[in-house]
Amino acid sequence: MRSKITYQILLILFLICVPFITAQTTTIRVTLLGTGAPVPSIERFGPSVLVEAGGQKLLFDCGRGAAQRLWQLKIPLGQIDALFLTHLHSDHVVGIPDLWLTGCIPAAYGRRENPLQVFGPCGTKEMMEGLAKAFSWDINIRSKEKNKVDSSAVVNATNITDGFIWEKDRIKVTPFIVSHADFIDSALGYRIEYAGYSVILSGDTRYSENLIRYSIGADVIIHEVAAANEQSMQTSPLINQILGFHSSPEDAGKVFARTKPRLAVYSHIVLLTSDPTIPPPTTNDLISRTQKIYNGALMVGEDLLSIEISDKINVTKFSVTGKSLNEIIK
Ligand SMILES: [Zn+2]
Ligand SMILES: [Zn+2]
Repeated sequence: MRSKITYQILLILFLICVPFITAQTTTIRVTLLGTGAPVPSIERFGPSVLVEAGGQKLLFDCGRGAAQRLWQLKIPLGQIDALFLTHLHSDHVVGIPDLWLTGCIPAAYGRRENPLQVFGPCGTKEMMEGLAKAFSWDINIRSKEKNKVDSSAVVNATNITDGFIWEKDRIKVTPFIVSHADFIDSALGYRIEYAGYSVILSGDTRYSENLIRYSIGADVIIHEVAAANEQSMQTSPLINQILGFHSSPEDAGKVFARTKPRLAVYSHIVLLTSDPTIPPPTTNDLISRTQKIYNGALMVGEDLLSIEISDKINVTKFSVTGKSLNEIIK
C-alpha cells in the first residue's frame, strides 16, 4: 500500500516535471549580447552571442560589454561553459579579461569554479597565454587570498584545426572557414546543432560560398552586415576598404535566398558615414536593400534580443521592466 502511494507521488512529480524537461531538451535559445562592431556605442555593445541548449551556456565572441549584458540577464559569468571565437579582431575579444577574471570572483555575478574553456582560430592559445601574463599580478593575488592556486583563473585554450568539432550534451558545434579578407585565412563561422534544430553564426565575412555550404537547412542564420551612405562610398577610400571586409545587405540577401532559413537576423551591424553631418544608412535601409533579393523572415538584431528555436521561432526583446515583448515569427 505504502509503495503504491510512493509510486503515485513519483508519477505525479514526473508529470509535473515533463513540460520543463521537454522545454530544456528541445530548444536552442540564442541571445544577442552585443550587435555592434568597433564603434564604442552604448546602444550596441561589441559582438557576442550566447547560445543555450541542453543545459550548456556557450558564448561566441566576447566583445565590449559581454559581461554586463550577461549580468543584465542575471547569468553569473562563471556559468559560461565554453567560449568560441570567430577571429581575433579586437572588437571580438576585448571583453575576454572581464568575462574571465570578473568570473573568478566568488560573488553572485562570478562564481566560476573550473578553468575557462576557450576555442578559436590559429593564435587563440597564444593570445590567452599573453593575457595570463598581462594579468599575472591579479591572478597571483587572488590565489593568495584563497590560499590555494585559483583554478577558476586557469584557461584551457585550443587553436581550432581542420576537422575540429565540439560535442557535449547532444550539442554539436562545427566551425567553418569564412572569407573576411584575402590576407585573413583563419576567420570562422559556426554551425550549432541541437535536438534537430540549428543556428548559423556567420562571423565576420564577405559573401562566402563556404558559409552557404554550411548554412543549408539551418533554422536561423545570424549574419553580419555593413553599409555606408552614397556620399561616403564615392569619397572615402577608408570606408570602401571597410566595406570590402564585410557583407553588404545584397550579399547577405543572396546567402539567405540560397539557404532559405526560417529566420535571418542581422548582428555585427556596421553603418558608416565619412561626414558626421550626413547620417549613415538606417536599419530600415538594411531591410529594404536585403528585400530586393530575399523575401523571407528577416530582422535587424538589437542587444539582448533573444531567439528561441523549436517548432516555432519565438523572438523576445529584452525589457528592463521584466515584461517580455513576444513576437511569433514563424
Ligand atoms: Zn568584427
Ligand atoms: Zn573582423
